[in-house]
Amino acid sequence: RDQALRELVTLPTVTQDGVAIGLSANVGNVADAAAAARAHADGVGLYRTEFAFLVNAGFPTEEEQFQIYRSAAAQLKGREMVLRVLDLGSDKLLPYFPLPIEANPSLGRRGTRLLMRHPEILRTQLRAALRVSATHALSLLFPMIGGLDEFLAARQAVEDAKAALRATGQPFDPAIRVGAMIETPAAAITARALVWAADFLSVGTNDLVQYLLTTDRTSSEMAGYYEPLHPAVLQVLKHIIEAATAEAKPVSLCGEIAGNPAYTELLLGLGVRSLSVAPTELLEIRRVVRTLDSREASRLAERALAAGTIAEVKTIVAAKRVPND
Ligand code: PEP
Ligand code: MG
Repeated sequence: RDQALRELVTLPTVTQDGVAIGLSANVGNVADAAAAARAHADGVGLYRTEFAFLVNAGFPTEEEQFQIYRSAAAQLKGREMVLRVLDLGSDKLLPYFPLPIEANPSLGRRGTRLLMRHPEILRTQLRAALRVSATHALSLLFPMIGGLDEFLAARQAVEDAKAALRATGQPFDPAIRVGAMIETPAAAITARALVWAADFLSVGTNDLVQYLLTTDRTSSEMAGYYEPLHPAVLQVLKHIIEAATAEAKPVSLCGEIAGNPAYTELLLGLGVRSLSVAPTELLEIRRVVRTLDSREASRLAERALAAGTIAEVKTIVAAKRVPND
């Protein structure tokens, strides 16, 4: 079995009927990025930069961030790295950056909204990332986008950081791509507008499921209600993928379900053509993709979309057992 997985390292991520699927890695540090490269990932689809801040006693300086991001990018040997700007608040906290107590932190200051209230934190990170983009293939991704207004403000912050670097003659990629994470119902419903404004979308189903189903992703009490196979999730995913596909904009799915082989056929059937998964899940997802037929996957998704209950969706998806090798 190990031998079979090893052989998968150099094989393309393509279905039985020849549909190529993008397969990138979710990483949090330089070692993860190296593991992604070893597994021949297409790149890093989600670099969660929180870890670089967590291992520090205080906010890392621009120079420190520049070194860390450049080391991670260097592991990829020219493949693209999507760097997500700091996603703080709710389940993601820094000991040295206490946030005000709120009754509902998951509905409070977090993600891009929080960064916009602390422009110096965002500016420092953007400058470090932009400087890496001078020599490495790097894109920027904004988390927890609540709609077009917020995304345009985020893009403006990128333009401001570019202008400041330009003024001091520091090199960066002027065409750096800027993407929006789709993790809130508002962003999902208005995906068409975000597709227009963004260079790419990344669907964060961990949070999207939480907000669509009003179920805390961290609560064991609520685990039974946290169900990615809820018909609402399927319909919303289809809507997002269609919006991006219609404009030929790249869209990738980076939540945990992307790395779970039980969902792979359904996701392909919903039109997903790019997945970003933990480095340890990469080869197994590649293996499963190589057993699938995209037309069968579409038929499976159609049946799942027509189902009214979670139980029905589960029966439809489970009936299609993942073949072993
Ligand atoms: C998500 O919400 O699906 C996601 C990928 O981001 P995180 O898990 O870091 O919140
Ligand atoms: Mg998230």
